Amino acid sequence: MPSLPPPVLLTTHLIGDVNRSRVLQAIVDHGPSSRADLARLAGVPRATIGAIVQGLVDDGLLEQQEPSRGTGRVGKPGRPLWFGPQAGVAAAISFTDASVRVALVNARGDILEETSRVLDTATAGSADLVVATADAVAAIRGATEPIGVGLAIPGVCDSERGLVIASGQVPGAGGAELVMGVAHETGLAVFVDNDARVQALGEKWFGDGRGVPTFAAVQTGHGLGVGLVLRGALYRGDDGRVGELGHVQVMPDGEPCRCGLTGCWETVATLRWLRAEAARLGLPGADRLDSAALAALAGKDETAAELQAVWAEHLGRGLAVLVNLLGIRRFLLHGDAVGGGEGLRAAVEDSVRGASLGHIAHEVELGFSSLDADAALLGAAGLVLSETFRLAV
Ligand SMILES: [Zn+2]
Repeated sequence: MPSLPPPVLLTTHLIGDVNRSRVLQAIVDHGPSSRADLARLAGVPRATIGAIVQGLVDDGLLEQQEPSRGTGRVGKPGRPLWFGPQAGVAAAISFTDASVRVALVNARGDILEETSRVLDTATAGSADLVVATADAVAAIRGATEPIGVGLAIPGVCDSERGLVIASGQVPGAGGAELVMGVAHETGLAVFVDNDARVQALGEKWFGDGRGVPTFAAVQTGHGLGVGLVLRGALYRGDDGRVGELGHVQVMPDGEPCRCGLTGCWETVATLRWLRAEAARLGLPGADRLDSAALAALAGKDETAAELQAVWAEHLGRGLAVLVNLLGIRRFLLHGDAVGGGEGLRAAVEDSVRGASLGHIAHEVELGFSSLDADAALLGAAGLVLSETFRLAV
């Protein structure tokens, strides 16, 4: 690997000026932009944008991209500005059930380095989690020094206090020990948030949510998680407690849920339901079935095709709650459902529309995340960047 120049530290001095912050916010919100677009988007005078941008370029935060000629325009082509490759490099952490994944991510959303440590996250204690995480960060920070660490945790997180209130999937992450331990071992500032919210932040900063004021990023598979961006802001509720869409009742006569309620969305829209139903129907490979395998079976087996239709109907029912309650019209799905391909995507979209209020149903758009598995890592980097840039998320 070629050696990299030293990272650009985003000190308060560097970005202290209000106009500079507004320009950075506009770039985060809208992606690579010309000077003229930045002046308009950031609401700064055209006469001053040149000097503001030049300062950011001189500091290595922004760089000029190749000229792009807008369609149908005449005159000088715009030269879009975008973050430099060494701007805002953060260490981003996400957990699966069997490992901790650690990456260095820059402000462009490029993954510069990545590693992982095998870990049974269901049984690991806080000390095990700290050791594995700090060890992985140490292994990749040689090339570039990160400005901070962002943790995506599947659980209830109070990001303002740096606290994991509870995590069913990674119980050892509960409390303040993980955040404090990683901060102590790495000597870096550590930021934490719920993984579904972090995925939404990843989409907002780096993915299909960029420039979209209101959308939901939805995790599917063994569990259901929803991150909401409402009118341009990541919704965190009070103390990070935002409720759980998975436990909204979608089946009035449904099965009891592990939460004590009945007919929750989680009881009919996770892989546990899909596999149990596939076994009842006698489909092959029922105990390992997922959306990808079901889509393959559905092409040649009528029973599988019918199950896929019910699966899509179930997935859509919970999402329609967000349409009817909050007017969400844009959905980005992550996880298992992505494997179901266009057939499942279209069927879930139809299901959401069918259960939504008539005047907005036709505007509902459901897509599969193009970031998918990387969304949590990129969003974890976004946590660090937003704190360092002091930007609204
Ligand atoms: Zn429930």
